[in-house]
Amino acid sequence: MRVTIFGTGYVGLVTGTCLADVGHDVICVDIDQAKVDGLNRGVIPIYEPGLEPMVKANHAAGRLRFTTDAEVAVAHGDVVFIAVGTPPDEDGSADLKYVLAVARTIGRHLERQVVVVNKSTVPVGTADKVRATIAAELASRGAEFGFEVASNPEFLKEGDAVNDCMRPDRIVIGASSATAVDKLKRLYAPFNRNHERIVVMDVRSAELTKYAANAMLATKISFMNEIANIAEKVGADVEMVRQGIGSDPRIGWHFIYPGAGYGGSCFPKDVQALAKTAQQYGYDAQLLGAVESVNDRQKEHLFELIGRHYGVASHDGALAGKTFAVWGLAFKPNTDDMREASSRRLLQLLWDAGAKVRAYDPEATEEAQRIFGERDDLVLCDSARATLADADALVVVTEWKQFRSPDFQRLSQSLADRVIFDGRNLYHPDEVEAAGLAYYGIGRGRSI
Ligand code: NAD
Repeated sequence: MRVTIFGTGYVGLVTGTCLADVGHDVICVDIDQAKVDGLNRGVIPIYEPGLEPMVKANHAAGRLRFTTDAEVAVAHGDVVFIAVGTPPDEDGSADLKYVLAVARTIGRHLERQVVVVNKSTVPVGTADKVRATIAAELASRGAEFGFEVASNPEFLKEGDAVNDCMRPDRIVIGASSATAVDKLKRLYAPFNRNHERIVVMDVRSAELTKYAANAMLATKISFMNEIANIAEKVGADVEMVRQGIGSDPRIGWHFIYPGAGYGGSCFPKDVQALAKTAQQYGYDAQLLGAVESVNDRQKEHLFELIGRHYGVASHDGALAGKTFAVWGLAFKPNTDDMREASSRRLLQLLWDAGAKVRAYDPEATEEAQRIFGERDDLVLCDSARATLADADALVVVTEWKQFRSPDFQRLSQSLADRVIFDGRNLYHPDEVEAAGLAYYGIGRGRSI
């Protein structure tokens, strides 16, 4: 099948590559000339395990092409995906300017019948807006082509995106005609071979499904962070509590890890956007508000623990002269994405308090360089060990596998203040303390 994808970000690039890998003829179109030029030279703009060789192989085979020429791209696809960003607007609602710009482009160039598929995460009712925008463009040039706008939200996880795309838990198709459903079923047939994964529904339900999924996951995280904060107050260890509840299949083991708060390009904006949609329809989504505020507070918790250890309360200059080794900058492991990452809040708080930072992340160094630029109070190191030079304390922010088993004796010798702040509960307090280090985790009551 001939497929066009607008947007070569995490979603567009991974989806396009996976569709090409199963034999479809894919054109990915982006407005970012440098990105497209890079992709045509085999430079992959994001870090995603397994993606690079797949892009190169499918590009070389001619099944995966990259362009900035929207006219060529629209002329190509029987199915045209919209996979551009939907960042939060000032009031928290999803900003649809990129999605609607693509809709205008499609309307401007459309010359035959297609199915337009919204893969971006968009509020309920967006398919109607996309349809109206395309129709208005067609009308303005006196053109008439049958087209349908379907919803096909994306559930891939950064860090495991290729796997999620090739072996999805489910493929949600929201469409109002049998023709569109049939086309999308044929498109996805290679991913739907051993058991039925396709769930067909109406467009609005599909749009809401994506928000419901992300809001549920964010809720689990905030719930567990709330329990962690209570555990800390009452002198309980949330890691014990986690093990005590996860075995209940009604609760399950996934997403009940306490930590330094959720980040990334999806949960924060999607929770906010869903609450905003509810508000626009006259409903006060109280739980969603709480999920967000618990997370916001949690992003400061590591800094609070640091303040507690050093006996300082105010931010201004309180940690002048201290240097913190920071392990992990990406919002989660196996990605270089730092959008809304907890590390960003922590670093800002440390800097506001006059501290210096020596940071390492296996993949996000370049992104950190881009975000923070040159600063006297930041050194981006090329290994975890290099962060320890002249450091007073260690803070672990992202749970990359390589941080799981450090040599605590060496850390004890390297860190002048002999203290670890473990924002992901990677370590056992006894083991850390046995090496002569003070240990602070999340929700580990013994650190009161
Ligand atoms: P991204 O920011 O990584 O990429 C968006 C791309 O769209 C950019 O390359 C940008 O240049 C391009 N673009 C913008 N306007 C364009 C236009 N008019 N024509 C062509 N290209 C254009 O975004 P992303 O992370 O891939 O997310 C895309 C959507 O998918 C968002 O709605 C997001 O919420 C959703 N989503 C993201 C993830 C994720 O893990 N990143 C998962 C599921 C769903």
